[in-house]
Amino acid sequence: MELKICFLPGDGIGPEIMEQAGTVLEAVAEKFGHTLTASSARIGGVAIDADGVPLPQETIDACKAADAVLLGAVGGPKWDEIDPAIRPERGLLAIRKEMGLFANLRPAQLFPQLKHACFLRPDLVENGLDVMVIRELTGGIYFGEPKGIEEKDGEKMGYNTMVYYEHEVERIARVAFEAARKRDKRLCSVDKANVLDVSRLWREVVIRTHADYPDVELTHMYVDNAAMQLVRNPSQFDVIVTGNLFGDILSDEAGCITGSIGMLPSASLGTDGPGLYEPIHGSAPDIAGQDKANPLATILSVAMMLRHSFNLTAEAEAIEAAVSKVLDQGYRTGDIREEGCELIGCQKMGQLVVEAI
Ligand code: NAD
Repeated sequence: MELKICFLPGDGIGPEIMEQAGTVLEAVAEKFGHTLTASSARIGGVAIDADGVPLPQETIDACKAADAVLLGAVGGPKWDEIDPAIRPERGLLAIRKEMGLFANLRPAQLFPQLKHACFLRPDLVENGLDVMVIRELTGGIYFGEPKGIEEKDGEKMGYNTMVYYEHEVERIARVAFEAARKRDKRLCSVDKANVLDVSRLWREVVIRTHADYPDVELTHMYVDNAAMQLVRNPSQFDVIVTGNLFGDILSDEAGCITGSIGMLPSASLGTDGPGLYEPIHGSAPDIAGQDKANPLATILSVAMMLRHSFNLTAEAEAIEAAVSKVLDQGYRTGDIREEGCELIGCQKMGQLVVEAI
């Protein structure tokens, strides 16, 4: 199979982690007999410096011409003071919009080897922690109209509107059912249907869509309870699907619990067209250029890419197993360091994963 990938290294540690993810992708392509056709483009601060904007048209074209896009991270102190309209982070929002990415998949997995980093009591994660939060990315209260701040009855009033159309709920529900099919086949839809009308419609559409996925078990939970259950008994969840606002909060909560920001990948998908894969962490300017970054979140994003954009399950599992093996062997980057383990840099970590593949 031909894998046409567009690499967007970005800023800070972006180029370092991307280089390692690239060599891992080459290794897995070679092992399984795929042809890798790679392109590379600028986004974020490097694009501001070279092109005057965080997302040049050339980059948009390169992304749309690829089968999948792998992104490092953007931003850094160098661009903190510039016009907010062209800040590096604008490039991220713009590329998601340009590519029509409405589904954000954020797995929060606690590797057994990194249990010590978890913020929860050991007995609470005895059965592991492997939750995939799927967040609707382009609708809901962040985009709903009307919105604004107005004068009313002699004081200011601020308001936003949480809006979901049936088609928006149905398409994110389908992504979630499909993702659950590739995992433990359990989907929990999170809403606030006891209070919000928009949530009642959400629930109705999710239940209706379930008819096409009878092999997946569907449950529903109110968002306040879900926030609580994630820290009380996270192993009860397989896949969670929810709207933009609730997903923003729950995906960060689920990821943070694992205690390992350098280990968490993500995927953003549209109806068709290329998906975008990236680590959830930022550009870590404090350690950029020092060979200290953990490339595993980006390497695991490559695994997500193979699984979701190419349906290459064995290839994805090969990467995940290689990462697990390197952790088993006791190698750690600074962010996941542990007494008794060998501290290594970004390049060595990438090289070890390649060897394990
Ligand atoms: P950050 O995620 O970059 O860093 C937070 C802390 O985690 C830092 O101490 C950093 O050294 C550490 N860290 C992050 N990733 C690591 C890795 N792979 N290996 C080892 N340590 C790692 O968040 P921040 O410091 O709040 O933001 C820095 C810059 O990144 C800002 O300009 C911010 O706007 C940007 N940012 C970008 C994205 C993105 O590109 N998706 C996301 C968040 C922040």
